[in-house]
Amino acid sequence: MDLSRFPRRRYTEGATPLVPLPRFSAALAASCPAGRAPEVWIKRDDLLGLSPGGNKTRKLEFLMAEALARGADTIITCGAPQSNHCRLTLAAAITEGLKCRFVIEERVPGSFSETASGNHFLFRLYGVEDITVVPAGTDMAAAMQAVADQVRAAGGTPYVIPGGGSNALGGLGYVACAQELQVQMTDQGTRFDAVVVGSGSSGTHGGMVAGFLGNRIQVPLLGVGVSRDPVDQAPLVQREAQAILDLLGVDLQVGEADVSCVGGYWQPKYSIPNAGMVEAVQMLARTEAVLLDPVYTGKIMAGLIGLARAGHWADGERVLFLHTGGMPALFAYTGELLG
Ligand SMILES: *Cc1c(COP(=O)(O)O)cnc(C)c1O
Repeated sequence: MDLSRFPRRRYTEGATPLVPLPRFSAALAASCPAGRAPEVWIKRDDLLGLSPGGNKTRKLEFLMAEALARGADTIITCGAPQSNHCRLTLAAAITEGLKCRFVIEERVPGSFSETASGNHFLFRLYGVEDITVVPAGTDMAAAMQAVADQVRAAGGTPYVIPGGGSNALGGLGYVACAQELQVQMTDQGTRFDAVVVGSGSSGTHGGMVAGFLGNRIQVPLLGVGVSRDPVDQAPLVQREAQAILDLLGVDLQVGEADVSCVGGYWQPKYSIPNAGMVEAVQMLARTEAVLLDPVYTGKIMAGLIGLARAGHWADGERVLFLHTGGMPALFAYTGELLG
Protein backbone atom coordinates (compact mmCIF):
# COMPACT_ATOMS: atom_id res chain seq x y z
CA MET A 1 0.00 0.00 0.00
CA ASP A 2 1.44 3.32 -1.05
CA LEU A 3 1.14 6.11 1.51
CA SER A 4 3.62 8.37 -0.28
CA ARG A 5 1.00 10.34 -2.20
CA PHE A 6 -0.41 11.71 1.07
CA PRO A 7 1.35 14.77 2.50
CA ARG A 8 2.86 13.91 5.86
CA ARG A 9 4.67 15.77 8.63
CA ARG A 10 7.14 13.74 10.67
CA TYR A 11 7.07 13.95 14.46
CA THR A 12 9.17 10.86 15.27
CA GLU A 13 12.62 9.85 14.11
CA GLY A 14 12.75 6.27 12.91
CA ALA A 15 10.73 3.30 14.15
CA THR A 16 9.49 2.82 17.71
CA PRO A 17 11.28 -0.02 19.56
CA LEU A 18 9.97 -3.58 19.27
CA VAL A 19 11.30 -5.43 22.32
CA PRO A 20 10.51 -8.42 24.58
CA LEU A 21 9.25 -8.04 28.16
CA PRO A 22 11.04 -10.95 29.89
CA ARG A 23 10.42 -9.95 33.51
CA PHE A 24 6.79 -9.15 32.89
CA SER A 25 6.32 -12.42 30.96
CA ALA A 26 7.83 -14.38 33.87
CA ALA A 27 5.57 -12.63 36.39
CA LEU A 28 2.52 -13.29 34.20
CA ALA A 29 3.46 -16.96 33.74
CA ALA A 30 3.06 -17.50 37.49
CA SER A 31 -0.69 -16.90 37.15
CA CYS A 32 -1.30 -18.69 33.82
CA PRO A 33 -2.51 -22.31 33.54
CA ALA A 34 0.26 -24.91 33.07
CA GLY A 35 1.60 -24.86 29.53
CA ARG A 36 -0.23 -21.63 28.68
CA ALA A 37 2.29 -18.85 29.33
CA PRO A 38 2.93 -16.55 26.35
CA GLU A 39 6.09 -14.56 25.70
CA VAL A 40 4.95 -10.93 25.72
CA TRP A 41 6.60 -8.28 23.57
CA ILE A 42 5.90 -4.57 23.33
CA LYS A 43 5.93 -1.99 20.55
CA ARG A 44 6.79 1.31 22.20
CA ASP A 45 4.42 3.77 20.57
CA ASP A 46 4.57 5.58 23.91
CA LEU A 47 7.99 6.72 22.65
CA LEU A 48 6.58 8.46 19.58
CA GLY A 49 7.33 12.15 19.19
CA LEU A 50 5.58 15.28 20.59
CA SER A 51 6.77 14.09 23.99
CA PRO A 52 5.41 12.29 25.77
CA GLY A 53 4.08 10.74 22.58
CA GLY A 54 1.35 8.26 21.89
CA ASN A 55 -0.83 6.87 19.14
CA LYS A 56 -2.29 10.28 18.23
CA THR A 57 1.21 11.35 17.14
CA ARG A 58 0.99 8.99 14.13
CA LYS A 59 -2.47 10.19 13.10
CA LEU A 60 -1.45 13.83 13.45
CA GLU A 61 1.37 13.41 10.92
CA PHE A 62 -1.26 13.13 8.19
CA LEU A 63 -3.92 15.39 9.71
CA MET A 64 -1.58 18.32 10.35
CA ALA A 65 -0.15 18.01 6.84
CA GLU A 66 -3.66 18.48 5.45
CA ALA A 67 -4.34 21.40 7.82
CA LEU A 68 -1.17 23.13 6.61
CA ALA A 69 -2.00 22.41 2.97
CA ARG A 70 -5.35 24.13 3.50
CA GLY A 71 -3.74 27.21 5.02
CA ALA A 72 -5.20 26.69 8.50
CA ASP A 73 -4.02 28.91 11.35
CA THR A 74 -6.17 27.37 14.12
CA ILE A 75 -6.70 23.68 14.88
CA ILE A 76 -9.92 22.66 16.65
CA THR A 77 -10.41 19.25 18.19
CA CYS A 78 -12.29 17.54 21.01
CA GLY A 79 -11.91 14.94 23.75
CA ALA A 80 -12.46 14.05 27.40
CA PRO A 81 -11.02 16.16 30.28
CA GLN A 82 -7.81 14.01 30.35
CA SER A 83 -7.58 13.67 26.57
CA ASN A 84 -4.19 12.56 25.26
CA HIS A 85 -5.47 13.37 21.80
CA CYS A 86 -6.13 17.01 22.71
CA ARG A 87 -2.73 17.33 24.39
CA LEU A 88 -0.87 15.87 21.40
CA THR A 89 -2.88 17.93 18.89
CA LEU A 90 -1.93 21.04 20.86
CA ALA A 91 1.73 19.98 20.88
CA ALA A 92 1.63 19.39 17.11
CA ALA A 93 -0.04 22.77 16.57
CA ILE A 94 2.68 24.53 18.57
CA THR A 95 5.34 22.68 16.58
CA GLU A 96 3.75 23.97 13.37
CA GLY A 97 3.26 27.52 14.66
CA LEU A 98 -0.55 27.23 14.75
CA LYS A 99 -3.12 28.01 17.42
CA CYS A 100 -5.35 25.35 18.96
CA ARG A 101 -8.78 25.22 20.66
CA PHE A 102 -10.61 22.32 22.33
CA VAL A 103 -14.18 21.27 22.95
CA ILE A 104 -14.04 19.08 26.07
CA GLU A 105 -16.88 16.63 26.71
CA GLU A 106 -17.52 16.07 30.39
CA ARG A 107 -18.34 12.37 29.85
CA VAL A 108 -18.30 11.78 33.60
CA PRO A 109 -20.37 14.63 35.15
CA GLY A 110 -18.26 16.94 37.28
CA SER A 111 -14.97 15.52 35.97
CA PHE A 112 -13.68 18.74 34.42
CA SER A 113 -11.59 20.80 36.81
CA GLU A 114 -9.61 23.93 35.93
CA THR A 115 -6.90 22.89 38.36
CA ALA A 116 -6.63 19.19 37.40
CA SER A 117 -3.20 17.62 36.92
CA GLY A 118 -2.14 15.22 34.15
CA ASN A 119 -3.07 16.18 30.61
CA HIS A 120 -5.19 19.10 31.75
CA PHE A 121 -2.17 20.66 33.44
CA LEU A 122 -0.28 20.25 30.15
CA PHE A 123 -3.12 21.93 28.20
CA ARG A 124 -2.52 24.99 30.32
CA LEU A 125 1.28 24.77 30.33
CA TYR A 126 1.30 24.50 26.53
CA GLY A 127 -1.01 27.53 26.45
CA VAL A 128 -4.18 26.27 24.76
CA GLU A 129 -5.98 29.23 23.20
CA ASP A 130 -9.48 28.30 24.40
CA ILE A 131 -11.46 25.42 25.94
CA THR A 132 -15.24 25.02 25.59
CA VAL A 133 -16.67 22.49 28.07
CA VAL A 134 -19.88 20.69 27.06
CA PRO A 135 -21.98 18.02 28.83
CA ALA A 136 -21.93 14.28 28.00
CA GLY A 137 -23.89 13.38 24.89
CA THR A 138 -23.32 16.74 23.14
CA ASP A 139 -23.05 16.61 19.33
CA MET A 140 -19.28 17.14 19.25
CA ALA A 141 -19.10 17.76 15.50
CA ALA A 142 -21.63 20.56 15.83
CA ALA A 143 -19.88 21.99 18.89
CA MET A 144 -16.55 22.08 17.04
CA GLN A 145 -18.25 23.63 14.00
CA ALA A 146 -19.55 26.42 16.25
CA VAL A 147 -15.98 27.12 17.44
CA ALA A 148 -14.76 27.02 13.83
CA ASP A 149 -17.40 29.61 12.92
CA GLN A 150 -16.12 31.89 15.70
CA VAL A 151 -12.56 31.53 14.42
CA ARG A 152 -13.66 32.33 10.87
CA ALA A 153 -15.71 35.33 12.05
CA ALA A 154 -12.55 36.66 13.71
CA GLY A 155 -10.66 36.36 10.42
CA GLY A 156 -8.93 33.05 11.10
CA THR A 157 -8.78 29.81 9.10
CA PRO A 158 -9.89 26.84 11.21
CA TYR A 159 -9.21 23.15 10.62
CA VAL A 160 -11.32 20.66 12.57
CA ILE A 161 -9.88 17.29 13.65
CA PRO A 162 -12.47 14.75 14.87
CA GLY A 163 -12.24 13.06 18.29
CA GLY A 164 -9.18 10.82 18.55
CA GLY A 165 -8.09 11.93 15.07
CA SER A 166 -10.03 8.91 13.86
CA ASN A 167 -11.15 9.62 10.34
CA ALA A 168 -9.79 7.87 7.26
CA LEU A 169 -6.86 10.29 6.92
CA GLY A 170 -5.80 9.95 10.57
CA GLY A 171 -6.12 6.19 10.28
CA LEU A 172 -3.28 6.22 7.73
CA GLY A 173 -1.00 6.69 10.73
CA TYR A 174 -1.73 3.14 11.82
CA VAL A 175 -1.38 1.77 8.30
CA ALA A 176 2.10 3.28 8.53
CA CYS A 177 2.55 1.55 11.90
CA ALA A 178 1.52 -1.82 10.41
CA GLN A 179 4.08 -1.31 7.64
CA GLU A 180 6.75 -0.30 10.15
CA LEU A 181 5.99 -3.42 12.20
CA GLN A 182 6.17 -5.62 9.10
CA VAL A 183 9.66 -4.29 8.31
CA GLN A 184 10.77 -4.81 11.93
CA MET A 185 9.46 -8.39 11.99
CA THR A 186 11.42 -9.09 8.82
CA ASP A 187 14.60 -7.34 9.99
CA GLN A 188 14.53 -8.82 13.50
CA GLY A 189 13.33 -12.26 12.35
CA THR A 190 10.42 -12.12 14.81
CA ARG A 191 6.95 -13.59 14.26
CA PHE A 192 3.95 -12.98 16.49
CA ASP A 193 1.00 -15.21 17.26
CA ALA A 194 -1.18 -12.25 18.21
CA VAL A 195 -1.08 -8.46 18.37
CA VAL A 196 -3.11 -6.74 21.11
CA VAL A 197 -4.16 -3.12 20.50
CA GLY A 198 -6.55 -0.67 22.13
CA SER A 199 -9.90 0.08 20.55
CA GLY A 200 -11.49 3.44 21.39
CA SER A 201 -12.35 5.98 18.71
CA SER A 202 -11.09 3.14 16.46
CA GLY A 203 -8.44 4.84 14.32
CA THR A 204 -5.69 2.71 15.82
CA HIS A 205 -7.48 -0.63 15.60
CA GLY A 206 -9.08 0.25 12.25
CA GLY A 207 -5.77 1.45 10.82
CA MET A 208 -4.04 -1.75 11.92
CA VAL A 209 -6.84 -3.88 10.41
CA ALA A 210 -6.49 -1.97 7.12
CA GLY A 211 -2.70 -2.22 7.24
CA PHE A 212 -2.70 -5.94 8.06
CA LEU A 213 -5.22 -6.72 5.30
CA GLY A 214 -3.59 -4.52 2.70
CA ASN A 215 -0.09 -5.80 3.45
CA ARG A 216 -1.20 -9.42 3.91
CA ILE A 217 0.13 -9.58 7.46
CA GLN A 218 -1.45 -12.78 8.72
CA VAL A 219 -1.20 -12.31 12.46
CA PRO A 220 -4.40 -12.26 14.56
CA LEU A 221 -5.17 -8.74 15.77
CA LEU A 222 -7.18 -8.27 18.97
CA GLY A 223 -8.67 -4.91 19.94
CA VAL A 224 -9.41 -4.46 23.64
CA GLY A 225 -12.30 -2.00 24.08
CA VAL A 226 -11.80 0.99 26.37
CA SER A 227 -15.39 2.25 26.18
CA ARG A 228 -17.55 -0.36 24.39
CA ASP A 229 -18.06 -4.11 24.24
CA PRO A 230 -17.59 -5.93 20.90
CA VAL A 231 -21.20 -5.69 19.71
CA ASP A 232 -20.91 -1.89 19.66
CA GLN A 233 -17.17 -1.52 18.96
CA ALA A 234 -16.62 -3.97 16.08
CA PRO A 235 -18.90 -2.13 13.58
CA LEU A 236 -17.02 1.14 14.28
CA VAL A 237 -13.67 -0.53 13.63
CA GLN A 238 -14.94 -2.26 10.49
CA ARG A 239 -16.24 1.07 9.12
CA GLU A 240 -12.98 2.87 9.96
CA ALA A 241 -10.84 0.16 8.32
CA GLN A 242 -13.01 0.25 5.19
CA ALA A 243 -12.85 4.05 4.99
CA ILE A 244 -9.04 3.87 5.19
CA LEU A 245 -8.77 1.24 2.44
CA ASP A 246 -11.16 3.27 0.27
CA LEU A 247 -9.07 6.41 0.79
CA LEU A 248 -6.00 4.43 -0.24
CA GLY A 249 -7.79 3.11 -3.32
CA VAL A 250 -7.22 -0.48 -2.20
CA ASP A 251 -9.87 -2.75 -3.63
CA LEU A 252 -10.55 -4.86 -0.54
CA GLN A 253 -13.70 -5.34 1.54
CA VAL A 254 -13.33 -5.51 5.31
CA GLY A 255 -15.49 -8.36 6.58
CA GLU A 256 -16.87 -8.95 10.05
CA ALA A 257 -14.35 -11.79 10.46
CA ASP A 258 -11.48 -9.33 9.94
CA VAL A 259 -12.28 -7.45 13.17
CA SER A 260 -11.79 -9.08 16.60
CA CYS A 261 -12.82 -7.07 19.64
CA VAL A 262 -12.41 -7.99 23.29
CA GLY A 263 -14.87 -6.66 25.86
CA GLY A 264 -15.19 -6.75 29.61
CA TYR A 265 -12.12 -4.79 30.65
CA TRP A 266 -13.31 -1.16 30.42
CA GLN A 267 -16.13 -1.32 32.91
CA PRO A 268 -17.60 0.31 34.95
CA LYS A 269 -17.18 3.19 32.50
CA TYR A 270 -14.72 4.87 30.15
CA SER A 271 -11.92 6.48 32.21
CA ILE A 272 -13.16 5.11 35.55
CA PRO A 273 -10.53 2.87 37.22
CA ASN A 274 -11.01 -0.86 37.86
CA ALA A 275 -8.88 -3.43 39.72
CA GLY A 276 -7.48 -5.05 36.55
CA MET A 277 -6.19 -1.68 35.33
CA VAL A 278 -4.47 -0.95 38.67
CA GLU A 279 -2.83 -4.39 38.67
CA ALA A 280 -1.62 -3.99 35.06
CA VAL A 281 -0.19 -0.49 35.65
CA GLN A 282 1.63 -1.64 38.81
CA MET A 283 2.91 -4.86 37.18
CA LEU A 284 4.44 -3.13 34.15
CA ALA A 285 5.97 -0.40 36.29
CA ARG A 286 7.46 -2.89 38.76
CA THR A 287 8.70 -5.57 36.34
CA GLU A 288 9.84 -3.50 33.34
CA ALA A 289 9.75 0.18 34.37
CA VAL A 290 7.22 0.72 31.57
CA LEU A 291 4.56 3.29 32.41
CA LEU A 292 1.04 2.47 31.25
CA ASP A 293 -1.89 4.83 31.80
CA PRO A 294 -5.13 4.52 33.78
CA VAL A 295 -7.66 5.29 31.02
CA TYR A 296 -6.36 3.26 28.07
CA THR A 297 -3.24 1.12 28.19
CA GLY A 298 -3.82 -0.08 31.78
CA LYS A 299 -7.18 -1.54 30.75
CA ILE A 300 -5.83 -2.81 27.43
CA MET A 301 -2.98 -4.64 29.20
CA ALA A 302 -5.52 -5.95 31.74
CA GLY A 303 -7.23 -7.50 28.71
CA LEU A 304 -3.99 -9.18 27.58
CA ILE A 305 -3.37 -10.44 31.14
CA GLY A 306 -6.95 -11.72 31.39
CA LEU A 307 -6.73 -13.58 28.07
CA ALA A 308 -3.39 -15.14 29.08
CA ARG A 309 -4.81 -16.29 32.43
CA ALA A 310 -7.78 -17.80 30.60
CA GLY A 311 -5.26 -19.95 28.68
CA HIS A 312 -5.67 -18.14 25.38
CA TRP A 313 -2.03 -18.71 24.32
CA ALA A 314 0.30 -21.73 24.61
CA ASP A 315 3.76 -21.70 26.19
CA GLY A 316 6.19 -19.79 24.03
CA GLU A 317 3.57 -18.20 21.80
CA ARG A 318 4.53 -14.60 21.17
CA VAL A 319 2.04 -11.84 21.89
CA LEU A 320 2.77 -8.24 20.95
CA PHE A 321 1.27 -5.44 23.03
CA LEU A 322 1.00 -2.10 21.22
CA HIS A 323 1.69 0.57 23.86
CA THR A 324 -0.32 3.58 22.69
CA GLY A 325 0.94 6.07 25.29
CA GLY A 326 -1.06 8.15 27.77
CA MET A 327 1.50 8.47 30.56
CA PRO A 328 0.57 12.01 31.74
CA ALA A 329 -2.88 10.82 32.86
CA LEU A 330 -1.13 8.81 35.61
CA PHE A 331 -0.75 12.05 37.54
CA ALA A 332 -4.50 12.63 37.56
CA TYR A 333 -5.09 9.22 39.23
CA THR A 334 -2.32 8.93 41.84
CA GLY A 335 -4.69 7.99 44.69
CA GLU A 336 -6.35 5.16 42.76
CA LEU A 337 -3.04 3.74 41.53
CA LEU A 338 -1.38 3.43 44.91
CA GLY A 339 -4.50 2.89 47.01
C1 LIG B 1 -6.73 7.51 22.18
C2 LIG B 1 -5.97 6.44 22.87
C3 LIG B 1 -6.21 5.07 22.61
C4 LIG B 1 -7.32 4.60 21.73
O1 LIG B 1 -7.01 4.75 20.38
P1 LIG B 1 -8.15 5.03 19.31
O2 LIG B 1 -7.44 5.24 18.04
O3 LIG B 1 -8.93 6.21 19.78
O4 LIG B 1 -9.03 3.81 19.28
C5 LIG B 1 -5.40 4.13 23.23
N1 LIG B 1 -4.43 4.50 24.08
C6 LIG B 1 -4.18 5.79 24.37
C7 LIG B 1 -3.11 6.11 25.35
C8 LIG B 1 -4.94 6.81 23.78
O5 LIG B 1 -4.70 8.10 24.09
